[in-house]
Amino acid sequence: MNISISEMKNQICWASKEIYQRGLVNVGEGNISLRVKNRNEMIITPSGNNYLNPLPTNMVHITFEGKVITEGEKPSSEYNLHRIIYEQRSRVNCVIHTHSTYSSILAVQRKALPMIFEEMMVFLGGGVPCSEYALTGTEQLGKNALKAMGKQNAVILANHGSIIVGRSVKHCVFGAQLVEKMAKIYVKSISIGEVFEIPEENLSNLMNRFQEEFSTI
Ligand SMILES: [Zn+2]
Repeated sequence: MNISISEMKNQICWASKEIYQRGLVNVGEGNISLRVKNRNEMIITPSGNNYLNPLPTNMVHITFEGKVITEGEKPSSEYNLHRIIYEQRSRVNCVIHTHSTYSSILAVQRKALPMIFEEMMVFLGGGVPCSEYALTGTEQLGKNALKAMGKQNAVILANHGSIIVGRSVKHCVFGAQLVEKMAKIYVKSISIGEVFEIPEENLSNLMNRFQEEFSTI
């Protein structure tokens, strides 16, 4: 079902408040976008998004080339990251990028988040890989992210943060919370002892559910 541009802007405002209230972003960092279906366009949060009081009129409607279609604020400088994902993964309708604390702890260590909880398979498609480093705002950042993401719905960006993709804004907000919670459990767990991964061969039913409901490939 196609939704209007104004409804998409409302959805980004909702997602902004959700991820801010859950501590996944600070003011001035991270970004959220939604794909405009059947067009090479997206709606994206502005540079320095006001997560506490986001306004639909602040959200920016741009083409994949970065041309502004409707008046808004300056688009996030990381829109290339979003564009590259939309161009390569046709079922992605929402992208959320955060600098949340525990995901970023893994990011600065350039470590992946292993498959430690069953729900990771259902919603993310498994563990969360870590990409190679690239400078913020560059095309290379998006390319590295996409390459590392594989078939999953999330990736940790080396020395930067994380990206979560989803078929809908609700999936994506949930995925962003899940990645941070799992990263927190993992980081705290390895500080007190050994962490055990769940072998993927035990999870074929959950993998089927991921492919049916949440996969963006
Ligand atoms: Zn960033």
